[in-house]
Amino acid sequence: MNQPVNISAPKTSQKYLRQYELVELVKKYDPSANAALLNKAYVYSVQAHGKQLRHSGDPYYAHPIEVAGIVASLKLDIATVCTALLHDVLEDTDATVTDLADEFTPEIAELVDGVTKLGQVEMSRPNLSRERAQAENFQKFILAVSKDVRVLLVKLCDRLHNMRTLQYHPKQASRERIARETLEIFAPLARRIGVDKICSELEDLSFRHINPAGYESIERRLKDWRESQGEAISQVFTALKNTLNDAGLNVRVYGREKRAYAIWRKLERQNISFDDVADIYAFRIIVETHAECYQTLGVLHDVFRAVPSRFRDFISVPKPNGYQSLHTTIRTDENRRVEIQIRTERMEDVANRGVAAHWAYKDESYAYDPARAQASGGDPLKRIRPLIEMMEQSGDADEFLDHVKLEMFTDQVFTFTPKGDLIALPRGASPIDFAYAVHTEVGDTCIGAIVNGRDVPLRTQLTNGDVVKIIRGGVAEPQPGWESIVITGRARQALRRLTREGESEEFRRIGETLALHAFKRQGKNIDSAVLTDALKRLDISDETTLYETLGRGELSMVAFMEAVFPFRNEVEADGGVEGLDIIDDGSVSLYVKGNGLNPGRGLHLAPCCSPIAGDRIVGLQSPGRGILIHTIDCDELATEEERIENWIDLTWRRAVEHAASIGRMLLTIENVPGALADVTKIIGESKANVTNIKMTHRSPTFFDMTIDVEVRDTRHMMSIIAALRASSYVVKVNRSRALPAHTKA
Ligand code: MN
Repeated sequence: MNQPVNISAPKTSQKYLRQYELVELVKKYDPSANAALLNKAYVYSVQAHGKQLRHSGDPYYAHPIEVAGIVASLKLDIATVCTALLHDVLEDTDATVTDLADEFTPEIAELVDGVTKLGQVEMSRPNLSRERAQAENFQKFILAVSKDVRVLLVKLCDRLHNMRTLQYHPKQASRERIARETLEIFAPLARRIGVDKICSELEDLSFRHINPAGYESIERRLKDWRESQGEAISQVFTALKNTLNDAGLNVRVYGREKRAYAIWRKLERQNISFDDVADIYAFRIIVETHAECYQTLGVLHDVFRAVPSRFRDFISVPKPNGYQSLHTTIRTDENRRVEIQIRTERMEDVANRGVAAHWAYKDESYAYDPARAQASGGDPLKRIRPLIEMMEQSGDADEFLDHVKLEMFTDQVFTFTPKGDLIALPRGASPIDFAYAVHTEVGDTCIGAIVNGRDVPLRTQLTNGDVVKIIRGGVAEPQPGWESIVITGRARQALRRLTREGESEEFRRIGETLALHAFKRQGKNIDSAVLTDALKRLDISDETTLYETLGRGELSMVAFMEAVFPFRNEVEADGGVEGLDIIDDGSVSLYVKGNGLNPGRGLHLAPCCSPIAGDRIVGLQSPGRGILIHTIDCDELATEEERIENWIDLTWRRAVEHAASIGRMLLTIENVPGALADVTKIIGESKANVTNIKMTHRSPTFFDMTIDVEVRDTRHMMSIIAALRASSYVVKVNRSRALPAHTKA
């Protein structure tokens, strides 16, 4: 009776393959293999891992060597065998990808790099106990990451050896976790690419660790079953062989026992007992040609009774992983149900080795042969991505939708640079986060992103497997809105730094424009001697700080003018006014000609309508606060109508040349460098002073802001607004009827 295919390394007294044994193993299926390269990789691995030890107490290098042995048992090309030997050197030693490319081949270096990255992904495994769907998505993701199927094959062989030695792992919890992960992620992956050899061993090994009692009980039942059924099995075996030989078919027949885990699954999923498991034992009939497969089937159905609905033709319709075979179940004369699989040698090979069965000699070298793959139902290597789609199609449609919604990780996404470097980011990360994760400089100069070949907005949330290319500008131009987009600490911190710098710069420019304009109004040019004196009076350290303070509105124009031209205000004050009050934290003087005002009372501009010189105004007595000045059309006045006799008739004092009022504008401008400077320039050219600027809303594309300006009168204000409307940077501008919140009113 044939036992399941054993892909363990050849038995030797040593715990790992010797150098010559590995070379022999490879030479057996690829006589042209470069033994020198293989030897070099073997020695390199041994030296690189040096005195590292495995949990088993074996030298660490025994692991890559054994993995190489498994890879060789799959008959993969020498580059893949070398990759297996070197698969842990990037992670565990000082060796670099460049080192490997120099020492071996760029192909090998790239493959080793791929396996290493897959290892990094594996580190952030999902919590499998929570979501089954996560496991499936994780599989998809690993497929997507393994651009070259050889990377995945090495990874699977690596996992297989780790599973074979899992009993040495000291922690019970870790053993269980690793076994579960293997069962839910790696074994299904092996099945996806058809490598049944690896899949079934991974499943059984996992099962043993996850459920030792279950495993033992199945093994015990199987042993009993073999003892009781052995005789019957060999009778069927003979009957089959004789029947087919009599029909002139040259066949090879062997039996295959179902694996423990496969039986367990049946018991779990179907409400049946061990004895009811029909296909514990299946017969394989290997023939030479496709035609003979059907011929064999015909003979068997003729001689025995076929069990209805148990016939499947996977030759004309192969399984997605390339598996081909005819399946049928017959009843013997003793009324025994017998499951039979009919296939060619080639189909058998594909069933065992899956993708790996497509490596062959071609043009004097041993390599993956797409034509050969095509001949057996498709080219899985070309379909790594489509494989993912197949997985999706194979599942229940609703279930798949759920998977898509769930995504695989709750807290992480894995993205890639165009070169294939893995960048792990928190969920919700944007291309800006990505850019900063690559390098601060890349983040600082990021102006756009191409994700999976498509231009996307920078606020786009990245998803697993995205390949992100950052478009960079020459200079750092982070946009204020970015801070609300990024989620990584690194990006946020960098943006804060840049925004601070950028804002200071902008305010300095505004301040300088304001100062220049103020000087011009006095018919003077900026004079550094005058400024130096002013700095002392203002207790400001230097010109730059002065401009910034002025630009921010922390220093009022009035205070600035007083500091620069100390005698200016005295002259004006001498002109004499009937009502004078200071509003808006002293930044502007309001001159109003009162009518019947009591000296000492405050005059305040009403915050509801914020009148400016030229507006028709009235005053209202406000107990304890003095007089509030409203525009004549202010809605507030309507509520006071019955007290119209209390209205105080006020006019603006025209006699004072420098009289200025504060007007507020609401602006929406484009969020582009220079826009704000252009706005202040226009205001300056209109001979008005900016006294305050406040951003009320920032988006990546627009700024909303309020600007308070010192103006002569309403006509002045309207001309400024008109000039602003003419600017290409200004999207919208209106006069506001509300004054700043800090106005003392
Ligand atoms: Mn390993």
